[in-house]
Amino acid sequence: MTTNEEAFARAKAVLPGGVNSPVRAYGSVGGVPRSVVSARGAYVTDIEGREYVDLITSWGPAILGHAHPSVIEAVQAAAARGLSFGASTSGEAELAELVIGRVGSLVERLRLVSTGTEATMTAIRLARGATGRDLLVKFAGHYHGHSDGLLAEAGSGLATLSIPGSAGVPAAIAAQTIVIPYNDIAAVEALFAERGSEIAAVITEAAAANMGVVAPQPGFNQELTRIAHEHGALVIIDEVLTGFRVGPGGWWGLDRSYQPDLVAYGKVIGGGLPLAALGGRADVMNLLAPLGPVYQAGTLSGNPVAVAAGIATLRAADAAVYSHIDATASIISTAVSAALAAEGVAHSIQHAGNLFSVAFRDSAPVNYADVKAQDSFRFPPFFHAMLAAGVSLPPSVFEAWFVSAAHDDTAVSRILDGLPAAAKAAAAA
Ligand code: PMP
Repeated sequence: MTTNEEAFARAKAVLPGGVNSPVRAYGSVGGVPRSVVSARGAYVTDIEGREYVDLITSWGPAILGHAHPSVIEAVQAAAARGLSFGASTSGEAELAELVIGRVGSLVERLRLVSTGTEATMTAIRLARGATGRDLLVKFAGHYHGHSDGLLAEAGSGLATLSIPGSAGVPAAIAAQTIVIPYNDIAAVEALFAERGSEIAAVITEAAAANMGVVAPQPGFNQELTRIAHEHGALVIIDEVLTGFRVGPGGWWGLDRSYQPDLVAYGKVIGGGLPLAALGGRADVMNLLAPLGPVYQAGTLSGNPVAVAAGIATLRAADAAVYSHIDATASIISTAVSAALAAEGVAHSIQHAGNLFSVAFRDSAPVNYADVKAQDSFRFPPFFHAMLAAGVSLPPSVFEAWFVSAAHDDTAVSRILDGLPAAAKAAAAA
């Protein structure tokens, strides 16, 4: 039998850090990453044959649970018809119709791409093309993928590894991004008062979930949109993580009291295959080639197999799925809080709909500075105690926990059973 250790050693000899995406390397929690061979429902199985309740769910896409029969069937049927044509298929319009059916006026036109990184990158190019301005505003601790302009003070793996930005980004490009604190309308107002006429767009995670979960304060997205629009700038909401996960219409679907111009989707929209999208106002979206002067293209964009997975996923993700995930997330997060409280561990459970995470501090963080000011050293022992109990958490305190429709009572019991020892380990850290 190959062990996880052997698999990781083999990978490290040929892949930088043994991984193809940094957080998978267990960099902040230590230990040997599990090499996964299969996944079904709420469970993943590693190369040693050990099964774990999975709270990563592929970092979001597997909202129905892994290998959901209707998704697998759709993918197999699509694959049997051919993997990629470099020509349009009717599934692409069908997927766009499904998205528009869920979010109405937010998306008048949709373009399919392959990753969330491409979706936000293209949305920004579009905003610049539409406004003739260069500057971009982002919030500290938000992650929008790994394109050059978006890595300053970004969350996700950069937060996990304490990387303030990326080497290899030209200073001239970094200078086009202004980073301000999240949930701080005064900072938005001050920046726009000073440089409003140069700003093409503000990009914001609809609800931040890449520095752990930090929901927008009530009215934040609305005020942000009002200020940006007053100055002729566009608003891009990034729903790559929240889209079609926190509810049928994503985070925006929970509160439609403001009107962003563009939106980025990923993860759930592709059901586990490489597919993402950007959408928004028709007049802005129609600036994209072939209609307009803003160029974007992709050999595998709208790939028929990925589209089939996305359609099957959105079709199956009905109201019952969302209410199950909401209820299950609430049971798990309440139990985590109770277990930590029983051990006297300072913590704040952070929610954005059914996404949640634990911050090891007394009060709720509202921005990146707050999030960094926590007892993050308590997370690695907590994580490893859960892993030993057969529960696979995201291997970083700066990531959200993801529940799926397949997390049933048996899976939840295993999570709850692991919590007392994990809380003890956190307390002893
Ligand atoms: N935006 C957000 C909010 C994300 O969470 C992510 C990925 N975690 C991305 C963009 C980038 O997506 P991808 O990894 O598919 O490039």
